[in-house]
Order: sequence, then C-alpha cells, then structure tokens
Amino acid sequence: MQNSKGKIVSKAVLFYSEDFKKLDFGIGHPMRGDRYEKALLEFKKEGLLKQLELKEPRLVSKDILEFFHTREYIKRVEAANEGILGYVGEEAPAFRGIFDVGLLSVSAGLNCADELLKGSFELGINFCGGWHHAFEDRGRGFCIFNDIAVIANYLLDKGIGKVMIVDYDAHHGDGTQKAFYNSRDVYTVSLHQDPKTLYPFLTGFEDELGEGRGLGFNRNFPLSTYCQDKEFISKFSLAAEIIVGFRPEFVIVQMGVDGSGECFISNMQLSRKSYDYASKVIAGLQKEIGFRLIVLGGGGFRHPMLGKNWGIQIKNFIGG
Ligand SMILES: [Zn+2]
Repeated sequence: MQNSKGKIVSKAVLFYSEDFKKLDFGIGHPMRGDRYEKALLEFKKEGLLKQLELKEPRLVSKDILEFFHTREYIKRVEAANEGILGYVGEEAPAFRGIFDVGLLSVSAGLNCADELLKGSFELGINFCGGWHHAFEDRGRGFCIFNDIAVIANYLLDKGIGKVMIVDYDAHHGDGTQKAFYNSRDVYTVSLHQDPKTLYPFLTGFEDELGEGRGLGFNRNFPLSTYCQDKEFISKFSLAAEIIVGFRPEFVIVQMGVDGSGECFISNMQLSRKSYDYASKVIAGLQKEIGFRLIVLGGGGFRHPMLGKNWGIQIKNFIGG
C-alpha cells in the first residue's frame, strides 16, 4: 500500500537488521545466521515488503531485560560476549557477540510493542524472535533471552491488562509457560509435538493448567508425534475459542514453522495448510476482537521452507 507521495502506508511494521545474522551458533548447528536474509528474500519474492513498513530496530537499554531475567544471568551473557567458550544454558552455546545480538533481537520485539502502544500500527513483526525456551536465569534450547516474556511483562508495566501468547512452534514453549504459570493477566496457549518424543520432554502436557491465580490461564495442546494438518487444524480451532473467551488486548504469536514436514528438527508433518489456517484464524479474530498483534519468528531450519511458511503467515496477518 502506498500513499500519493509513494510512501508505504500500512498497518504493519517489520523490524529487520542485517546484524540479525550474528545470531549464529556456528557450523553444524541448526541455528545459523543466514536464516533471516534467506527468509527476507522469500518475503521479497512474494511482494510482502511492499505491504508493510520496514524499520531498523532501535536498541533498548539492557535494564529492560530485567522485566524477566535475573541480573546475574544478564551479566553472565554479557561476560560471554567477548568470546568465552562454553554455554549460557543447556542447548545454548556461547559465542562472540552473543549479548549484543541477544539484546538486538529483544529490542526488535520491544520496538514492535512500542509502535503498537503508540497506535502507529496494529501489527508488529520480528522474525528474529520467539525465544520461548529461555528461563529467567539461563538460556535453553537455542534461546538466549526470552523476548516473549520480556515483552509481555513490559506491556503489563505499560498498563495493558490482558496479554495472550499463542505459540505453535513444534516445541513446547516451556520458558514462557513457566514465566506466567501463576498469572491470569498473561494467558499462554501452546500447540506442539508430544513432549514425550521431543524437546523439552518434561513439560507441555494437557494437565498443565496454571497454578494459584493463574489456574485456568495456561493451555497445552500436545499433538501426535507425526501430526498432520487435519489434527493441527482441529486442535487450533480449540485454541481459537480460548482466544475468543479471553478477549486479550494484545496477542503475541510465536509462529515457528519447525513442525513442517520439510524441517528435520521435529517429527511433525505439517504442510503450509496448517500455517495458512492458523494465521488466517488469528487475523480474523483480530478484526473481531480488536487486539493488537505482535508476531515473532520461532523455529524453522530449512530453506526456502522457512521463508515460505513465515511468508504465508505474514501475508495473512497483514490481511493480503
Ligand atoms: Zn521449535
């Protein structure tokens, strides 16, 4: 969409930095730095960049990480920035620049939140985000800082009353679940491969419903190991009913596509049909309920599958 001066006028903003490529766990690791530019290329091919405003992320103060993370953990990642070998948590190897790119990634998500709070846009996208495994005091499962938890707490601090997290990455969003397990202000819904057969193994089961004030505000939909579209779509329609019931002011989507049959990291066998369905349903609910929407990337480690399946979703979220 363009106005008479040729400037893009869109309800959607996408934050992108060339420096996202520095989020790279190294040769042989599934999480490589080239996934963002490769995905962006697919978005270009689909003409998506003409339908949204592309902005460079503005770095936020590192203190904002304390909306979720402990000061000790933040310091630990900062110390690893200079290239200390080792790990910042299980399945989270340290590398030179880890703090800088970790903060950049969280900043892009917080920039989305700020734009939506100002009312400049209805939809904010950061596809270098969705790090749902990180705990408050450690990195985990390829995730350094849990941007989802930082953003949700930031929104609450800004006076937002009800935030919903909808996560359909192949893996259970365990760090995010843990962050809000006792909260009724942030409702967490996750669809994922049966955790008996996939990381994180210990959580993500149906009977985890929240605790204390948060009881009834956490839902998991574990899907069968080789889940196909039919099962995903039927369970996602139940998740949609939960969104309608909660009537959130903000929805944060983790749109991971590592449940695709083309991605080696899970056993799930989803096609583009599932991602098309989920994103169309969310876009429809946004029209109905009027919530503001933040979309974060999550998993997906094959190309061009990653950019294609993220692209289908972004197109639907924009309303194209
Ligand atoms: Zn995943």
